[in-house]
Amino acid sequence: TKYILVSGGVISGIGKGVIASSTGLLLKTTGLKVTAIKIDPYMNIDAGTMAPTEHGEVYVLNDGGEVDLDLGNYERYLDVTLSRDNNITTGKIYREVIEKERRGDYLGKTVQIVPHITNAIQDWIERVSKVPVDDTGEEPDVCIVELGGTVGDIESAPFIEAMRQFQFRVGHENFALIHVSLVVNMHGEQKTKPTQTTVRDLRGLGLLPDLIACRVQGKDPLDGPTKAKVSMFCHVGKDQVLSVHDVSSVYHVPLLLKSQGIIEFLQKRLDLNMISISRPLV
Ligand code: ADP
Repeated sequence: TKYILVSGGVISGIGKGVIASSTGLLLKTTGLKVTAIKIDPYMNIDAGTMAPTEHGEVYVLNDGGEVDLDLGNYERYLDVTLSRDNNITTGKIYREVIEKERRGDYLGKTVQIVPHITNAIQDWIERVSKVPVDDTGEEPDVCIVELGGTVGDIESAPFIEAMRQFQFRVGHENFALIHVSLVVNMHGEQKTKPTQTTVRDLRGLGLLPDLIACRVQGKDPLDGPTKAKVSMFCHVGKDQVLSVHDVSSVYHVPLLLKSQGIIEFLQKRLDLNMISISRPLV
């Protein structure tokens, strides 16, 4: 299985979910089987007890799992059926580790965030990524893992650390990272400083972005000089900087990413075995 982690910086609600779903959809059009996992770094076991006024309406899965709305995006974009296990929360991970501790599974060891929580996160992702999600009943080729919240939060720290370790567990050729960041629009001028800062934070935590998806404020795409600046100051090639401006429908985002070569980039980066990359989007 190939893993694509989608993380976010600067602000929440930046469009990670839409970019993650769109990436999955594009890969699906090339004949790959795609599944998705959403990580919500809160202590609630699931979204069922959370006020819809704060997080949006709860999304109910076929197995009765009450989860974040993003899972609905995945089911619609990818035409898959997900289960409650496709939504990981801090609460679920802690519950699992604490139950194991009470059973004595840790054999007298001190149970810690590293390695016990971080291992539980990695095991969970590996297990769920292999569960078939469509009627072919076959194991997915690609698993999109979306990490909610923003990099640098206390809440997401164990997940970031788990993913840092995970890139070695599965190998470089099986793990890519898309970091979604905000490019601020100040009276028409595109500002990259918040993006530089969040990418530096990410690198400091041991995760190197393969693609930086710049969510540009406003109706204009990232301009040439701004793209060059992100490339230079964030230590990535220009082909690794994607522009995602405000669009009238989030269903335009897949085409926006496709036109910037995301499929070819990921194919090369992850050595993906695609059937075709020219199949039109329906
Ligand atoms: P996150 O996963 O980062 O919290 P979402 O993907 O849920 O963010 O998007 C947050 C909101 O922004 C949603 O209402 C979504 O429809 C909207 N949105 C996302 N991307 C775009 C875009 N490129 N243009 C316009 N609206 C967008």
